[in-house]
Amino acid sequence: MRRKLIAGNWKMNTTISEAVNLAADIKKIFGSRVIKSEILVCPPFTNLYSVSEVLAGSVIKLGAQNCDFHISGAFTGEISINMIKSAGCTYVIIGHSERRTLYGETDEMVNLKVKAALEGGITPIICIGETLDERNAGNTFSVLERQISKAYSGIETDNLNKLVIAYEPVWAIGTGISATTAQAGEAHLRIRQYLRDNYGESASDIRILYGGSMNEKNSSELLTLPDVDGGLIGGASLKPELFAAIIEASENLSDL
Ligand code: PEP
Repeated sequence: MRRKLIAGNWKMNTTISEAVNLAADIKKIFGSRVIKSEILVCPPFTNLYSVSEVLAGSVIKLGAQNCDFHISGAFTGEISINMIKSAGCTYVIIGHSERRTLYGETDEMVNLKVKAALEGGITPIICIGETLDERNAGNTFSVLERQISKAYSGIETDNLNKLVIAYEPVWAIGTGISATTAQAGEAHLRIRQYLRDNYGESASDIRILYGGSMNEKNSSELLTLPDVDGGLIGGASLKPELFAAIIEASENLSDL
């Protein structure tokens, strides 16, 4: 049984006080409820520790949006797994399309970051997804398979089910145009099949999130799909009532 994960990616939004208020608002709604889904918020680095203090004792987990793969040292401007762990994180988003496109993050770097996260006991959420050009050229699945195989390279079998994948079609991120249920369903099914074919039955336990303009209106339909195990949510995660509505949709569909 895969527990649904509803994760908010706050991106480069919120000052410390805004982040503390946003976290407190979400905590007010869900903090002490017995909940079937897992809830995660991923604020910017500077706000992690303050948000961890707000969330202490609640069911809401904390994640970072990126990390470096080195342990420590002369890497000006970078943040290590140990640092985010010491700020209270248990998850880290790796290889978000914005990092791949805007900051030149390669499949090889994603793989090193995944290894560093696992080594440090942090759960990586590995983002994969095709651009519109790649989709139009009929290359969606070859792109997804390449991204998975590179991200998974050299990972021990025992660690495979600790990885979370987020399927985020690049054309759907921040555009208000979500994948249709048919498109998301097809992609998630293919990803699951690829994982099973290449990594064996433990692939059945890997959670595959959908990301890309998920909101309070489309979340029920998307989360109903058999291989959609949660959502990675950008814009809608900045509004507590919208994020809460997505969590409620997940709760209504979870039978744990
Ligand atoms: C994201 O940033 O991962 C994302 C899916 O953003 P949005 O929900 O705004 O499309």
